[in-house]
Amino acid sequence: MDESSRERLARMRGDEEGSFEVLVIGGGFAGTAAAINLARARRKVCIIDDGKPRNRSSEHMHGVLGSDGVRPTTLLERGHTEFAAYGGVIFQDRVESLARVGGDNWVAETESGRSLTASQTLVATGITDSLPEVPGLRDMWGSRVFHCPYCHGYEATGKSVGVIGGKNPAFTFKMASLLTKWSESVTLHLNGLDPTKEQLQKLEATGVVLDRDGVVRVSPAAENDTSVEVMTASGTIRYDACFTGPDFIPNDQLLRKAGCTVVDGWVSVEGGKTSQPGLWAVGNVVSSPDQVSQAIGTGAGVAIAIDQFLFDEEFSG
Ligand SMILES: Cc1cc2nc3c(=O)[nH]c(=O)nc-3n(C[C@H](O)[C@H](O)[C@H](O)COP(=O)(O)OP(=O)(O)OC[C@H]3O[C@@H](n4cnc5c(N)ncnc54)[C@H](O)[C@@H]3O)c2cc1C
Repeated sequence: MDESSRERLARMRGDEEGSFEVLVIGGGFAGTAAAINLARARRKVCIIDDGKPRNRSSEHMHGVLGSDGVRPTTLLERGHTEFAAYGGVIFQDRVESLARVGGDNWVAETESGRSLTASQTLVATGITDSLPEVPGLRDMWGSRVFHCPYCHGYEATGKSVGVIGGKNPAFTFKMASLLTKWSESVTLHLNGLDPTKEQLQKLEATGVVLDRDGVVRVSPAAENDTSVEVMTASGTIRYDACFTGPDFIPNDQLLRKAGCTVVDGWVSVEGGKTSQPGLWAVGNVVSSPDQVSQAIGTGAGVAIAIDQFLFDEEFSG
């Protein structure tokens, strides 16, 4: 290997301070799975994570092989420990800006003043769930109020279920109908939503009861279970389990500012690659339906793609 190749390799591997081969922005399920696989591939990797995974307020996570019922933050802590054991670097910090500098490097500037550099950057910053504006709802989000029947529907089997509407109509109607797979008693509080004729037919066909009164407030019904009281103009109703349909807002500002192509409101990726060279994205930030298992799986897949991309670059003469 000649001198210039050696210099180039050293630069790509990140021998300078604050310089890495791969930056992973967001250390949730997708980002951490990717980072572990990259570290095991002997890449110099850094996770920058501000510690707010989407399901952090849930005590139990479901549908994740070998980890059913585990607290989500416990699984992530295990992942971060595994990553660090392979030499990975984690900064508890927030990336404020990301820009391509000097042709082939991405520079991330953080809230605490760090400046981190790599030729490849993976953004795995998740989404923000924007809930209907009902007093009391946010306080119970993730502990008594859920959105995904496949994550928390089983726990509602045979119980009375209340669904609070107000946002994301298509998702809310579909979710309310799906919940009848687990419960024969599902009431949807439309709370301002206005179903189309076809949506109404599906709701009726699946046996969802509609309540058209606005929701005034929701609150816990008891201390020792997940029951919820829903107050409307006509009175207060108690449910054993409660769901709602949030708007799913991707945390994709870094990607958009970097110039990534956006299609139908979402940054588009192909095998994790964005339209910008050296910039990758994975998990909920580019795919809102992904559950934990999918986020982990796609994270691992993109890690391999990044490693092989770097491998090919290193030996491309
Ligand atoms: C209430 C609730 C319950 C759920 N329960 C389940 C369940 O039981 N089973 C299941 O399979 N799925 C469940 N999910 C879905 C699960 O949360 C997601 O599938 C998963 O979190 C997606 O992983 P991710 O890595 O894409 O995003 P996240 O896990 O949300 O991770 C994103 C990370 O990026 C960080 N971040 C964001 N912006 C920045 C920045 N600028 N700088 C640094 N860090 C940043 C965040 O702090 C966060 O740590 C649930 C979701 C919710 C909302």
